[in-house]
Amino acid sequence: MADDKKLTTRAADFSAWYNEVIMRAELADYSPVRGCMVIRPNGYAIWEQMQRGLDGMFKEHGVQNAYFPLLIPQSFLSKEAEHVEGFAPELAVVTHGGGKELEEPLVIRPTSETIIYSMYAKWIQSYRDLPMLMNQWANVVRWEMRTRLFLRTAEFLWQEGHTAHVDEADAEAFTLTILATYRRFAEEYMAMPVITGRKTDAERFAGALRTYCIEALMQDNKALQAGTSHNLGQNFAKAFQVTFQSQGGSLDYVWNTSWGVSTRLVGALVMTHGDDNGIITPPRLAQYQVVIVPIYKSDEERATVLAAADLVHKELKSAGIRTHLDARDGMKPGAKYYEWEGRGVPLRLEIGPRDVAGGTVMLARRTGGKKQSFPTEGLARTLRLEMDSMQQELLDAARTRREQNSIRGITKASFLDFLERDGGFAYGGWCGDGKCEADIKEQTKATIRCLPDPEFQSEEKPTTCMWCGRLAITEAVWARAY
Ligand SMILES: [Zn+2]
Repeated sequence: MADDKKLTTRAADFSAWYNEVIMRAELADYSPVRGCMVIRPNGYAIWEQMQRGLDGMFKEHGVQNAYFPLLIPQSFLSKEAEHVEGFAPELAVVTHGGGKELEEPLVIRPTSETIIYSMYAKWIQSYRDLPMLMNQWANVVRWEMRTRLFLRTAEFLWQEGHTAHVDEADAEAFTLTILATYRRFAEEYMAMPVITGRKTDAERFAGALRTYCIEALMQDNKALQAGTSHNLGQNFAKAFQVTFQSQGGSLDYVWNTSWGVSTRLVGALVMTHGDDNGIITPPRLAQYQVVIVPIYKSDEERATVLAAADLVHKELKSAGIRTHLDARDGMKPGAKYYEWEGRGVPLRLEIGPRDVAGGTVMLARRTGGKKQSFPTEGLARTLRLEMDSMQQELLDAARTRREQNSIRGITKASFLDFLERDGGFAYGGWCGDGKCEADIKEQTKATIRCLPDPEFQSEEKPTTCMWCGRLAITEAVWARAY
């Protein structure tokens, strides 16, 4: 939308605002197939930056990329009982190929544990083959009935890591290494603070021993699960006969982990930083970190200004700053500002005749504040510092907002009151009973987001379950969630 239509404000209708900013920034569009989404170039560019960041981090931990098929024999899914039960309602199944009915239907992968571990069974023989650490960047299909752009779509893009280890301790350590990696990525790249913790049995991945997650709080105070890391134990190894000869000579089952984040993170980014003018992309993930808008009236001015803008453009690009020169003719600077603002570009440089004469540029920040004039001399360094501080400011602001919308030491009454008002993260004691957890979910729509890691736990340990009053076995974090 290149028109000057005002966006719905976040305060008026967060959900309408979310859809409008995505459309305005041209991140995605609805597809002819219900529940599916088209990721447009501006949205895909953010995903590519995310991929780049994550991929580098995975490789630091020795993970290699591979690719496994989209189609999985249906029988594979039934080999792990809990797994098939968890995914059966969401499966898309191919029954015909080449005009003929298939002997065995093929499932479009909802996740790839089964096909990957069927291959690991072939590739792993000895403890020397372990750990086996692989990741794939792929699409998956889960037949969702209620969909929302980026947050919940029938097909989405993600990465799924799958590893095999000699023992439980090694698998658990790797599960937690990835959890820490996800947290680092969320905070350092997305400027999105997260809490880490373990899922309850009701929320854990179908077929896993333990599921860990990173959880973020969006601006509407709903939680968003941003990534999960599972210790699968030996469940899949037993289902697919993934065995190895141990150092001691015995034949053992491997221990597996799997972990993933998806294009859902783009939605999380929008809902963490966007304002009433559109999205705000943290500099580390921006397609363009800097956009240059030349300002001129006469043809003569145009030539001078464009030449200067071109020089600045080249210099910034060669300094490794993702820069775009918006030299479109016949478009007023104001219209360009509006467009780049909606797309969330962190920094905008304006160059007019007076700036050229003075050897300066005018800098405007997407996060607001007064425009400032800077010399073109040493500009790359200036902009780097600006981007570093913007990246930090975005993280700090999001963390402050999350803490302002968190409540600790809840009782049933204060919890209900909290949800009635604005909601957010509610920390309290839990008896550990799944029945209690289910009752809360049914009555309030709030779920246990995680049993928080020590760093996030309250100083004062809760002693009773906030809902039923029985003895608490742990602290839990509740919220309504996406
Ligand atoms: Zn209870």
